[in-house]
Amino acid sequence: MANVNEILSQARKEKRTVLTEIESKKVLREVGIHCTDTRLAATRENSVALSKEIGYPVVLKISSKDITHKSDAGGVKVNLKDKADVERAYDEIMASARKKFPNAVIEGVTVQGMAKSGIEVIMGMIKDPSFGPVLMFGLGGILVEVLKDVSFRIVPLEKKDASEMIQEIKGKKLLDGYRGQDPANIPYLEDMLLKLSAFVDHTPGIEEIDMNPLFAYKDGAVVVDARIILSAA
Ligand code: ADP
Ligand code: MG
Repeated sequence: MANVNEILSQARKEKRTVLTEIESKKVLREVGIHCTDTRLAATRENSVALSKEIGYPVVLKISSKDITHKSDAGGVKVNLKDKADVERAYDEIMASARKKFPNAVIEGVTVQGMAKSGIEVIMGMIKDPSFGPVLMFGLGGILVEVLKDVSFRIVPLEKKDASEMIQEIKGKKLLDGYRGQDPANIPYLEDMLLKLSAFVDHTPGIEEIDMNPLFAYKDGAVVVDARIILSAA
């Protein structure tokens, strides 16, 4: 995984521990995890050009190494359908981010395709002081924030662990296709957990991984937001 090593060492060279959304998704893609194609636009014109290239509808997000929670900064605009939408979103994102984070260095915005809606899921890795790397799985959105409906397993995971992690969340019914919604593809999600586990197990220096959210579909899943944090040197 030459690409992964390059991204990690570039960040370390710049004394950064937090990878950008674009870098984080590049790493995850190398691991075999499907993420939305996400690119950086430094100007308003560039964001329009990239939107056309990627194909409408698109999503624009603030890109700044100083802003972690993009929505809190008014920095996420979804379902932009044409050039006028993108131009307006660009201006609004910039104005809001500058107002809320006056000292942030802003690289521009990221542009990515609008993913079709699915079941919102989160996956990640945190380091437990006694157990080391631990994977996390849960439902996204309000359920995870209010009910903390998540499960954990110590890395490395076996197939059985991945399966149990998914089965034991309280909101499991939602994954089975609640009220006529499409179900999630559970074996696909298990496979993602196993890929993540193998990656974490074989890659030293990763402190935290946050895929929040990914959308689960009946035929797969796609990560729409990701963040990787490296261990301090
Ligand atoms: P934050 O930094 O605030 O976590 P996110 O990138 O997670 O920002 O975006 C906020 C929300 O916008 C997500 O929870 C998701 O519901 C929606 N979203 C983000 N990216 C996309 C996308 N590519 N397609 C569809 N919805 C998206
Ligand atoms: Mg997010």
